Amino acid sequence: MITENHRFIFEEHIPEYKLAGRANHPEDTLVEAGGVKIGAGCPIAVMAGPCAVESAESIERIAEQVKAAGAGILRGGSYKPRTSPYSFQGLREEGLAYLKNAGRANGMPVISELVSEKDMDLFTDNVDLIQIGARNMQNFALLKAVGRIGKPVLLKRGTGATIDEWIMAAEYILAEGNPNVILCERGIRTFEYATRNTMDLAVVPIIKEKTHLPIVIDPSHATGNWKYVEPVALAAVAAGADGLLIEVHDDPDAAASDGMQSIKPERFAELMDKARLVAKAVGREI
Ligand code: PEP
Ligand code: MN
Repeated sequence: MITENHRFIFEEHIPEYKLAGRANHPEDTLVEAGGVKIGAGCPIAVMAGPCAVESAESIERIAEQVKAAGAGILRGGSYKPRTSPYSFQGLREEGLAYLKNAGRANGMPVISELVSEKDMDLFTDNVDLIQIGARNMQNFALLKAVGRIGKPVLLKRGTGATIDEWIMAAEYILAEGNPNVILCERGIRTFEYATRNTMDLAVVPIIKEKTHLPIVIDPSHATGNWKYVEPVALAAVAAGADGLLIEVHDDPDAAASDGMQSIKPERFAELMDKARLVAKAVGREI
């Protein structure tokens, strides 16, 4: 039975997604990042690479391998939002240049995380897709700043954010005039500790119902364990995700960050082969 209290929660407080919602924009949004199309029934976009750019040589090596396996976009963090200030913080400007070069050498657009508005020019010059990480999902000043530029933005869900809060964060970017927003689920914080985060895969149909924006799944941060990355990635493809974001490292034990959840290039190639089959089964391509 719906009580008055529920009515208040469900009706009065249902946020209005003027720009992200389907009411004023029924058709799916297609976002283009450096020539790769994401969303609106396009082939599933796969973004792969190390958690962090570690050197020019390593990002070049990994870029070649993920490209050969079929990834369309190269990922690599250069400004790392680490839990501890004593952990590797990223190669910053230098890392972005290595990432861009490795991407260009392999014909791949690149994605990297922006953590501060002061680095915006560097990102507009070097990156094709700007990642806003889980920790900054409600950094409204940063959301407004990326809303004022034309570059596509991949907005990760905050670890403690509801779907409505996440869509409202996307609304901030759209409201500033940037229509190129992609949502990315990377797991949320729950009582469960068998995985680093809890993958909320139901977001795929929910986001598609509530919004017209593309939805990408990140099985690496969601599970925190390389062994679980492939099954969760395949499930995401089966559920209708528009893209995958996967951490790949050729020497995970020596990785500067997130080695535990990074898969080796050979395993990534196997994952891609299986993902193609799953995609075909649900009427999609990769
Ligand atoms: C990352 O992509 O390496 C990252 C830090 O992601 P998240 O914001 O999802 O933790
Ligand atoms: Mn990472």
